[in-house]
Amino acid sequence: MRRGMVVGNWKMNGDSAAIDVLLRELLAGTAQFDGADIAVCPPFPYLSRVAELLRGSSVSVGAQNVALEASGAFTGEVAAAMLKDLGCRYVIVGHSERRALYGETSAIVAQKFLQAQREALIPILCVGETLEQREAGQTLSVVSEQLQCVVDAAGIAALQQAAIAYEPVWAIGTGRTATPAQAQEVHAHLRQLLSSHDAGVAQQLRILYGGSVKADNAAELFAEADIDGALVGGASLVAQDFLVISQAAEF
Ligand code: PEP
Repeated sequence: MRRGMVVGNWKMNGDSAAIDVLLRELLAGTAQFDGADIAVCPPFPYLSRVAELLRGSSVSVGAQNVALEASGAFTGEVAAAMLKDLGCRYVIVGHSERRALYGETSAIVAQKFLQAQREALIPILCVGETLEQREAGQTLSVVSEQLQCVVDAAGIAALQQAAIAYEPVWAIGTGRTATPAQAQEVHAHLRQLLSSHDAGVAQQLRILYGGSVKADNAAELFAEADIDGALVGGASLVAQDFLVISQAAEF
């Protein structure tokens, strides 16, 4: 049985005051809860503050992105070693906003995955199709290519220390969620792809769903056999909603 996992992607939202309030509510709501792995991914400038406030709690910290390179003259970039140093456990790689807005190809995402693991960070690899690709019947081939690129670069064993987030682009921030059956189809396909390399890794790896997960739809998504939790954007900014989603991931 895989342990549930819920990760909040705060994107470019919040300020010190709002984050303090959000964390206070999260800490109160998770003090007695150990039923799933929970993490939040704040914007870079707040990582150290969030790590400090969450120290000793059951909520982990992740970053939303990581540099391709280990260190050096890369203005504006943040290295995996720095994230580790600040107390991060996870890092999101290949979010669709980075693929679409910042030109991150699957090859770049695979390099970021490797950089994260070099510093013992756990990458959360995002994959997902656009609406156009779904309507063209390309969903499974698109997510396969995105995952296979990482398997080729890192090796199947590396997936043991990672998570995958299936995030259909058309469902992110739109209020339009994939149905549980639509999501399950893709999750099962991703697990099958991994299984063709190593059945043990495939069984153990957590595949999260992301795309307008809310307090009122999380439980039905998590009821599917291959949905092990969620990567949550908008609803992770509202403590009570994020807590309800986290509690639904106690399997
Ligand atoms: C995301 O950004 O990863 C995401 C899933 O956003 P939302 O939950 O707002 O759709």
